[in-house]
Amino acid sequence: MPAYRDPWEERLLADPWALSTIAAEIGGPFHLVNPDRVRSNIRAFREVFANHRLEGVIYYGKKANKARCIVHACAETGAGVDVSSAGELEAALAGGVRGADLVVTGPAKSTELLRLAADHHALIAIDDPEELERLRATTLSARILLRVLPPGSSSRFGMTDAELRDALARLTGTRIRLEGYSFHLTGYEIAGRAELATALIGRVLEARRLGHAAEIISIGGGFGVNYVPEQAWRTFLEEVNPLWFHGDRGFDASAFYPYHFSTPGPAMLAAVLRHGGLGKRLREHRIRLAIEPGRALLDRAGSTVFTVQGVKTRDVDGTAYDIVTVNGSSLSLSEQWFDSEYLPDPVLWPHRPRTDDELTPTCVGGATCLDDDMLSWRRIPLPRPARIGDLLIYPNTAGYQMDSNESSFHELPIPPKIILREAENGREFLWELDADASRI
Ligand SMILES: *Cc1c(COP(=O)(O)O)cnc(C)c1O
Repeated sequence: MPAYRDPWEERLLADPWALSTIAAEIGGPFHLVNPDRVRSNIRAFREVFANHRLEGVIYYGKKANKARCIVHACAETGAGVDVSSAGELEAALAGGVRGADLVVTGPAKSTELLRLAADHHALIAIDDPEELERLRATTLSARILLRVLPPGSSSRFGMTDAELRDALARLTGTRIRLEGYSFHLTGYEIAGRAELATALIGRVLEARRLGHAAEIISIGGGFGVNYVPEQAWRTFLEEVNPLWFHGDRGFDASAFYPYHFSTPGPAMLAAVLRHGGLGKRLREHRIRLAIEPGRALLDRAGSTVFTVQGVKTRDVDGTAYDIVTVNGSSLSLSEQWFDSEYLPDPVLWPHRPRTDDELTPTCVGGATCLDDDMLSWRRIPLPRPARIGDLLIYPNTAGYQMDSNESSFHELPIPPKIILREAENGREFLWELDADASRI
């Protein structure tokens, strides 16, 4: 399942020194983050807004990755950040994002977080009337969105019709300014997002009639990422069986993330805006559209590098395969924690001349004493047998695969984030530790 690669990744893999130098200096696993790619992802979303002559606002869904350099890239390009804890809010401010460019989401926010958000003029997505009541009790002036429970949804987030009406009524005579409505849907459906946004236009107009300055609709995150080519993904889904995995571990195919996605990121935003003429309607009513992409803003902006520290060969029913142990754990590749697996192929580095009879099915385990600590249960057909000291580079891990579940279990070091940039001469790589490393 070969992953799509950005030119910077091709150049990095072709560079004879950069990867091995960083690995030697760090002395453990590490994550590479390329903020230039985050900037170009932000630009691509903005082009879609511009094509529809819409005023669009981007809030980076910060939970997807803690790296400070990503927040910097947002600050430098004028993008905002979606935060849901005091820690995330502080980190976004420390990274240079203005308070007014933050949106604070999440359920039942603590009064401390509500105060912090109001003090910094952040937009607050209110999730229930009780939360609004606590915000009102602070007597601070505040900017809010009301988060809507999608019709027919069993989500625990968002407000029902009755709760929305209750919330609206509580605004009279307060210093709380209703700026619009929001929602966030799981999954990657285009029509559902466009139709709910269209329904919210009606709510914005109604709020205006009641004298509120409503002018924005946030359709949340959930923009897909295209990790692997369609054919590879389709073949995998058709043919996958437990024998492909170490210990015959069967995964429910529906548990896998949709690693092929035909309208990723900005293309999906364009499709949402076209659906039912949503873009045109927003423009007519002078409503701004906000998005909160996490994963899609980080597409191809980073990878995770482990060093091979052991290799053994197993023979099961006459079929030999290798079990590689790397110098980290599956806690750094979060997908296992959703009873699933990160499927884009890791790259074995350095490249050595390939002969097809060396194709070596290889699964990848972590350096812990847990039998279940597998980064890849799948016996990945590596182009040659791995050797101790080789690097194994998991591609496109910046969105959720880096740090959402990391721990220093076994007193293993948490992999630092390395900011990677290409030098002006286009030949060398410059790297430095991300500031967030000091917070670990
Ligand atoms: C998680 C989350 C996001 C980001 O979701 P992605 O799927 O990474 O784009 C955006 N908004 C809210 C409210 C979220 O909870």
